[in-house]
Amino acid sequence: MSAPLIQLHPGDSLAIAQEKLQRHRVRRIVVTGKDGALRGILTESNLSQILDPLELFGMLEILQHRVKQLSEDRDRLLPHKNLHLQQALKNGEFLLYYQPQLDIESQRIIGAEVLVRWQSPEQGLVSPGEFIPLAEMTGFIVPLGEWILKAACTQAVQWQQRGLTPLQISVNLSSKQLQSPQLVPCLKAILAETGLEARWLKLELTESALVENVDFTMAQFRLIKELGVAIAIDDFGTGYASLGYLQHFPFDTLKIDRCFVENIHQNPKNAAITKALINMAQQLNFSVVAEGVETAEEMEFLRQHHCYTFQGFFISRPLPTAAFETFLANYPA
Ligand code: C2E
Ligand code: MG
Ligand code: MG
Repeated sequence: MSAPLIQLHPGDSLAIAQEKLQRHRVRRIVVTGKDGALRGILTESNLSQILDPLELFGMLEILQHRVKQLSEDRDRLLPHKNLHLQQALKNGEFLLYYQPQLDIESQRIIGAEVLVRWQSPEQGLVSPGEFIPLAEMTGFIVPLGEWILKAACTQAVQWQQRGLTPLQISVNLSSKQLQSPQLVPCLKAILAETGLEARWLKLELTESALVENVDFTMAQFRLIKELGVAIAIDDFGTGYASLGYLQHFPFDTLKIDRCFVENIHQNPKNAAITKALINMAQQLNFSVVAEGVETAEEMEFLRQHHCYTFQGFFISRPLPTAAFETFLANYPA
């Protein structure tokens, strides 16, 4: 039997278990005793080969125990960790980075994606991958998301007032925010308070945000569009939404996920998928942004296939405010 992909020990902390589960797509589970001795291995294939129901029952019991232990850990740790996040918001420890979006035809920076970071006094700069999932689980994403929206709109207005290139800012929205009835009134209030014209704001939604509660989501979508705020579908092709969603939700922009962009000039499968996505977006009248462009070859290939807006390390990594302003100064206004 090949080496197990993931091992969970009873002593594993929740963080370790989660990290292991995320790192590997779990296909087999190794059950070990407290002493580290092997108690059993469950794989997709041998699950069906276990003939002795008692053996299976024993393993399931161990697994159930483990699951219970993990969820107890989670319930114990969540409020504690959430408290840290709430405190961080109060202390002003969240900050925004901006990743430029380049229009290749005009050679101008036409937009920026807003990406949140946590400057933790203990842990240093923490990436959103580490705290957004927790914030989503606990609902903290709603107040945090409101802060992000307001800070981003305030910044955009300030740039406009200083005569910098007018940019459309793209703010990521989690499904919890989209499901909140407070979202649209909150958006309205933020636009009024900051004075940002709605057309300079775009919200990025992922497919997972659309498949929940479809009727309500559709109504929210319409209200957002009525405000004049644009909507992009983020990471398209990596989630569960069917192509039909594209027809029903009037997006302004489709963002091609970086997994399709990677090595696109050398990977025929990525090229085929991306060409189809660009075509479809054009038919539906959505603009297209390619994400995660890391090389000149990727960008050139996409340009030849009629994608003209790019975001990725090849143009620039996400930058803190001052560095972003310096970056902008090197492009035509
Ligand atoms: P996303 O919205 O798909 O953001 C793009 C991510 O790809 C960013 O990671 C960005 O730094 C990274 N990236 C951009 N260009 C490249 C590239 O050329 N190569 C590679 N390897 N990576 C690239 P980041 O900033 O760590 O954000 C990760 C995710 O966290 C975001 O994915 C988004 O889902 C979430 N997130 C970030 N900020 C916010 C926020 O303000 N609100 C919410 N709800 N989610 C956020
Ligand atoms: Mg995004
Ligand atoms: Mg994305």
